[in-house]
Amino acid sequence: MTELSGLQIFKYLPAAKKAEHTNCKMCGCPTCMAFALKLAKHNIDIENCPYVSDELKKICEQNSKEPQKTVDINGVKIGGENVLYRHEKTFINKTAIAVIIDLSEHDWKEKFEQVKNFEITRVNEHLKIDLIITKNGSLPDCITYEDYKKLPIKEIVNEKFSKTSKELIDTRKKAVLEKDENYSSPVCVYFKHTGDLNQLCAEASYYICKYANMLVFEDFDPYLITALMTLRQNIFTDPQKPLQVEPKIYEFNNPDENSLIFMTTNFALTFFAVANELEGLPVPSYLIVTPAEGMSVLTAWSAEKFTAKMVAKTLKKFDFANKVKNRKIIIPGLLAHMKDELQEEVKDFEIIVGTVDAFAIGDFVKNLKIRHQQSA
Ligand code: SF4
Repeated sequence: MTELSGLQIFKYLPAAKKAEHTNCKMCGCPTCMAFALKLAKHNIDIENCPYVSDELKKICEQNSKEPQKTVDINGVKIGGENVLYRHEKTFINKTAIAVIIDLSEHDWKEKFEQVKNFEITRVNEHLKIDLIITKNGSLPDCITYEDYKKLPIKEIVNEKFSKTSKELIDTRKKAVLEKDENYSSPVCVYFKHTGDLNQLCAEASYYICKYANMLVFEDFDPYLITALMTLRQNIFTDPQKPLQVEPKIYEFNNPDENSLIFMTTNFALTFFAVANELEGLPVPSYLIVTPAEGMSVLTAWSAEKFTAKMVAKTLKKFDFANKVKNRKIIIPGLLAHMKDELQEEVKDFEIIVGTVDAFAIGDFVKNLKIRHQQSA
């Protein structure tokens, strides 16, 4: 059973049954419906209503159980999941990636250095191997194979894809849908040495999607891990929290006081699309990134997270008017309708409407230069 909604709870309350005590306010809420909505969000104790039936108490008790336990391994948390699909709410802890280092192998030091130093940066996140497990000895900041075997997790040794995938899906369903305590441990898939990298990649990718809490590899291949971490980042990004970058002034190609000035919000995908184009321009530029809780420009505008007042405040905060001589700021084309409003608020600069799409920035800058030369 998944989380109870307010409406599901309401069905068990006096108001739904038109019974005695309907909307009596004893719980501190104006109506039974208000109580139900609060209870669904865990913002009120069920005991606040003296007329709650035993049936509802039992249902709520069953629902309050954590479907899957969280296990902390050297600071790496796995498990704690309570949905089958990310869009239902969110996933909690990403699938951890661990590598085995066997200290009895002659080249273990080389492999250890490779694993320890492996790092990729993607959408502003620095991704590294989560855990190193040592066999036949111990190393600092690693856990031994013996300690790994003692972890309160369920291990599946990956021998046959159909068997492993079925077990992963069955286990998560039993945990989330039935809250069966026998299936509440996080699940780890263990990959023994294998020669077939393509198959390994396909199977491990599937297990990240459904529903491994940890993957342990005896082999280490940086290309495989890069692909898996990229997939993992996409699967485990919280859809309710857009990826964002730090709001500040970014510099491209060593700008000076006369360089071009662009502006956008701190939504990571917009930022990287624009930054990529600015990096490739034959001229230097600044990019002013405004704080907008990671929303894209139009969403930020409609949610009042990108307003003329906020833009003026951002420029003031960075003391930008005193840092540059250029007096033109290029705003995203999608915000053309805001030009006059912005101009009213941002008196030190002329507002220029730029392109709708980032890929058109190159041509836009070329035209800007031609217009500038013609008017000079
Ligand atoms: Fe409804 Fe119970 Fe609150 Fe009374 S105390 S209003 S019956 S929820």
